[in-house]
Amino acid sequence: MKITYLDLKMINHASKHELMEAFESVLDSGWYILGNKLEQFEKQYAAYSNTNYCIGVANGLDALILSLKALDIKAGDEVIVPSNTYIASWLAVSYVGATPIPVEPNWETCNIDPLLIESKITERTKAIMPVNLYGQAAQLDLITEIANKHNLFVLEDNAQAQGALCKGKITGSWGHINASSFYPGKNLGALGDAGAITSNDENLNNKVRIIRNYGSQKKYFNEIKGVNSRLDELQAALLSVKLNVLDAQNSQRIALAEIYNQQLQNVGDLTLPTLADSCTSVYHIYQVRTSRRNELQNYLTENGIGTIIHYPVPPHLQEAYAELAYKKGDFPIAEKIAEQTLSLPLYPGMQNEDVFTVIETIKKFFNG
Ligand SMILES: *Cc1c(COP(=O)(O)O)cnc(C)c1O
Repeated sequence: MKITYLDLKMINHASKHELMEAFESVLDSGWYILGNKLEQFEKQYAAYSNTNYCIGVANGLDALILSLKALDIKAGDEVIVPSNTYIASWLAVSYVGATPIPVEPNWETCNIDPLLIESKITERTKAIMPVNLYGQAAQLDLITEIANKHNLFVLEDNAQAQGALCKGKITGSWGHINASSFYPGKNLGALGDAGAITSNDENLNNKVRIIRNYGSQKKYFNEIKGVNSRLDELQAALLSVKLNVLDAQNSQRIALAEIYNQQLQNVGDLTLPTLADSCTSVYHIYQVRTSRRNELQNYLTENGIGTIIHYPVPPHLQEAYAELAYKKGDFPIAEKIAEQTLSLPLYPGMQNEDVFTVIETIKKFFNG
């Protein structure tokens, strides 16, 4: 590949010196789980998220599961989820025994359509889980209004949008409780698996803290049957370094996305990313849509340009969800996105020149 979809090595090498120092500091401390590196990162990420509390956990899926457990969501309950999302959002609901109730996205923004939520609320509904997909804040203001009106919890899946805003308020701060992933490819990426939960609710915070550590506050005394889902000292120390450069890296992503946005207008039948009113994107993913998606992807591959499809099969059509008995046509917007979407190369540190090469190659494809 001349132009890779993502260059994680380059992203992390930009902070190599600081990351090596953080590594050495953890190594030399002799303390590797639940120590002051984690405490420091939790404080730092709570401040970044404008929330009172942050709890580091093992990964993003666990962050969602532990959040649902803290809200006491269980078998018999329903949680409203987007039909267009990464399957982890749905899996978390399933893992606590509840049922994911899909709601279609708005075709323009690809995020859950607030106008379609109310018709899916039943007596069993306990929570709404907006996902800030591709780096764009969902319409969290409207979603919060609906949740308040119906007495529902909001749990943001903020795995893809650390730093995005809705009405000037940062993602990961809107819900009663919010889950984040620091999987290496996310905007705030660790050098392994990691995740976090943010909230302003002291009760929920205390509950999650106990659940993530075997149900124990005091070593060897267990109040509940918890799990082991701790963010380790090493990843926490590395994440503190990465958090310091997150805003700068998000700005680079936005600048690159703006070049794509300008230059790809009116090219072929491309649909470019659209932002909802008062929502921003930190472009975790820059995705375009075209009816000739597979052809375009092959053409770019032949020309040495890497792309990815996020995601080729929506959750309701995955074998894993055969039990819900959905069929093709049940969520046509999510299905059309899955058929048409293509994510173009975009990462902090990517050269403008490379963005222009991608653009020229796409133009050549459409203009013969
Ligand atoms: C990455 C991701 C997750 C899960 O995060 P992991 O850290 O991989 O467990 C959840 N939801 C969405 C939308 C994601 O993109």
